[in-house]
Amino acid sequence: MQTLEKPKAIDLPAFCDAHGLEVFENVSLSKYSYLKTGGTARYVVYPRSVDSLVSMLGHMVEIGQRFKIIGNTSNLLFKDATDYSVLICTLWLNDISVANGELVAECGASLPELSRQALYAGFRGFEGLEGIPGTVGAGIFMNAGAYGSEIKDTLLAVDLADAGGSVRRHRRRTRP
Ligand SMILES: Cc1cc2nc3c(=O)[nH]c(=O)nc-3n(C[C@H](O)[C@H](O)[C@H](O)COP(=O)(O)OP(=O)(O)OC[C@H]3O[C@@H](n4cnc5c(N)ncnc54)[C@H](O)[C@@H]3O)c2cc1C
Repeated sequence: MQTLEKPKAIDLPAFCDAHGLEVFENVSLSKYSYLKTGGTARYVVYPRSVDSLVSMLGHMVEIGQRFKIIGNTSNLLFKDATDYSVLICTLWLNDISVANGELVAECGASLPELSRQALYAGFRGFEGLEGIPGTVGAGIFMNAGAYGSEIKDTLLAVDLADAGGSVRRHRRRTRP
């Protein structure tokens, strides 16, 4: 993982209050992270909606503040001696639904839950994701998979938020 710089004097709580984000200060990563390692995170921010996530990304770029997106931190080893500045956690963006015959998941939805919902709704190809303790967003980022099924096998489209604050849908050209 990249090392983040020491926090600048930024008034993140005020921005979060105004834009629908929850923020926690001085979080002990050795208690919070999946692998129980790490020093302190100055801010861990939880967007409550995709819009608030996008406005947070835009704000970070605007003020020149480095940040890291995290899901369930199951693939991250935080360093004990490092102070992290801004972590943006997707875990509250966890909706899963079925629309137009497709399974639609927000980036913070858990892969085991996605696998279960796929089973209930009659979709195939998600079975191998059941034992992976991560999120959909991270799973797509690194193509998570197990027991012969990978995210890429069933992925039809991804909505990507860019640093400029817009969201664009990238759809697969051919069905898997
Ligand atoms: C016990 C155990 C078993 C595991 N088994 C498997 C397995 O069978 N198969 C497998 O593939 N992996 C496995 N993993 C690894 C891990 O669970 C996966 O890599 C998972 O996809 C990580 O998801 P996360 O939400 O925890 O990501 P995090 O650890 O929080 O983040 C991982 C990376 O993804 C980036 N990221 C997170 N969210 C987003 C987002 N929304 N958009 C863009 N980038 C993002 C982060 O910046 C970071 O670089 C296992 C891990 C553990 C601890």
